[in-house]
Amino acid sequence: MKHSEYSAVIVGSGAAGLYIALKLSSQMSLPDGILILTKSTLGESNSCYAQGGIVGVLKQNIEDSVESHVADTLRAGAGLSDERVTRYISEISDDVINDLISCGVQFDKSSSGSLNYTLEAAHSCRRILHVGGDATGKGIISALAEKVSADPNITIVENAMAVELLVNNEKECKGLICYNELTNEHEIIYTSATILATGGAGQVYKYTTNPDGATGDGIDLAYNAGAIIQDMEFIQFHPTALALSPKSKNRFLISEAVRGEGARLTDASGREFMAKYHDRRELAPRDIVTRAIYNEMQLSHSANMFLNASLIDKARLKLRFPTISNKCKENGIDISSTPIPVAPAAHYTMGGIKASVEGKTSIAGLYAIGETASTGLHGANRLASNSLLECVACAYELADYLSFANLETPKKIDQSILDTISLYSLPINEIDYNIDVLKQNLKNLMWDKVGIIRTEEDLFVAQNTIKKLIKEFNRNRKCLNKEEYEYRNMLTVSLLIVNAAINRKESRGAHSRADYKVLLENCQHSNLVKSKNKELVLC
Ligand SMILES: Cc1cc2nc3c(=O)[nH]c(=O)nc-3n(C[C@H](O)[C@H](O)[C@H](O)COP(=O)(O)OP(=O)(O)OC[C@H]3O[C@@H](n4cnc5c(N)ncnc54)[C@H](O)[C@@H]3O)c2cc1C
Repeated sequence: MKHSEYSAVIVGSGAAGLYIALKLSSQMSLPDGILILTKSTLGESNSCYAQGGIVGVLKQNIEDSVESHVADTLRAGAGLSDERVTRYISEISDDVINDLISCGVQFDKSSSGSLNYTLEAAHSCRRILHVGGDATGKGIISALAEKVSADPNITIVENAMAVELLVNNEKECKGLICYNELTNEHEIIYTSATILATGGAGQVYKYTTNPDGATGDGIDLAYNAGAIIQDMEFIQFHPTALALSPKSKNRFLISEAVRGEGARLTDASGREFMAKYHDRRELAPRDIVTRAIYNEMQLSHSANMFLNASLIDKARLKLRFPTISNKCKENGIDISSTPIPVAPAAHYTMGGIKASVEGKTSIAGLYAIGETASTGLHGANRLASNSLLECVACAYELADYLSFANLETPKKIDQSILDTISLYSLPINEIDYNIDVLKQNLKNLMWDKVGIIRTEEDLFVAQNTIKKLIKEFNRNRKCLNKEEYEYRNMLTVSLLIVNAAINRKESRGAHSRADYKVLLENCQHSNLVKSKNKELVLC
């Protein structure tokens, strides 16, 4: 197998991956260079579809304060957000946003030149910055990708997927194995800093706002290398994805900012219903709005509810939401006059690889930032627009940490270890799987049995089915292509979600159990780790 060495290897090219690459390149001397591996094209990610914006607790915004942002985040997180982490990220957000501006990100401004802030659900003041109205992710990613592409210290390899981590007996990560989809070859890459910025896992669900690549790869890799995985039961279902027909599976998001600007939820007859569920109505925390819509759908046997945006001034609607207006128009909906059909869809993975604010995981030399990581910021329910902030704030801190860490020259790993984990020794997968069908069956199972409202009975059905599927799709065989690797990863992530959901015998935040309504007083993170006999255990 071919091999190469880099000072730092970044897996993923969303907001977290691109920003850490730029920060490392500008802050450190890395003699062996920086490598970005990305399994699609540069920048294709959840990040580039982000609409609403990014939280910035800016010193110049006199309406806002760290205290207020921390209080909002903790309230949404339903008792599971880590206050120290939240405060830290909130405090550095001013520096990070200003740094993004210096990287070329052009946040929207008023005619007087001051930054525009918007409001989203469960925020107590306007503190969300946006780009191009509702194209914040695209704006951030194109500015960062342009800089990364021009940086001579950074090598970019597209269509390259990390498929295994190299971890020695001392629990140190020494690099990874990568699969190149175009050449159909595997390669070993040695490095002193392996940085996972691989995003979330929305694709394990039938209906999702996430693009195809969000298959939880980083979580699978870290879990199989022995890292601690945290809070996987907390999957955020966004309340308002465009629901054109039950056949449309990857669902276009109708940003929360539309409700922030005054749109109201109704049933098919135009009756508003949110007052029944929460005193903040449409601006209640996301999990509450999702369950309200879900409940109304069940009661009325409907496939969707409606979002009435015609209450927003026409000119403002066009200026603030050009992407959403155009997408709906393409589908025959003029949002200034016609209610938008909406239904919940899997949106954000709150849990993931347990990591500190600097991205440190339970394995030395392995770092995780962005949606694949679980720092404790989001708790049981992410506050809108905190995720892009977490991506860049943790990248900012990781670059700082690594610049003092004296990275060693990357070293090769013992052959004996390679033999046990590498793909050298694995037999080829000889069964001709129909991966599309397998993926779809798993997604249906997760939606039906591990969805918005869960019961023990359903969770056990899902657990038994997934265990069988894992046995059938043996990990100890070499996958033939990217889709097979993704399916392998989706199976691991699905089992992690199910096991954590079975273990949490309460309803909290996004984890809603029909059989356990109560909140336990002693609220703890759920940490899962792989034991020596390869079973999942709580730790
Ligand atoms: C439609 C939508 C709207 C959103 N709106 C907002 C918003 O307004 N505000 C907000 O704060 N958050 C929003 N979010 C959430 C936010 O966009 C994400 O949480 C965040 O962008 C994640 O960034 P990331 O860099 O961690 O991962 P991503 O942006 O998902 O990037 C992951 C990268 O890793 C690559 N990758 C994955 N696995 C591998 C592998 N094995 N090998 C190589 N490469 C790999 C992917 O191809 C991709 O490039 C939204 C999400 C969606 C889907």
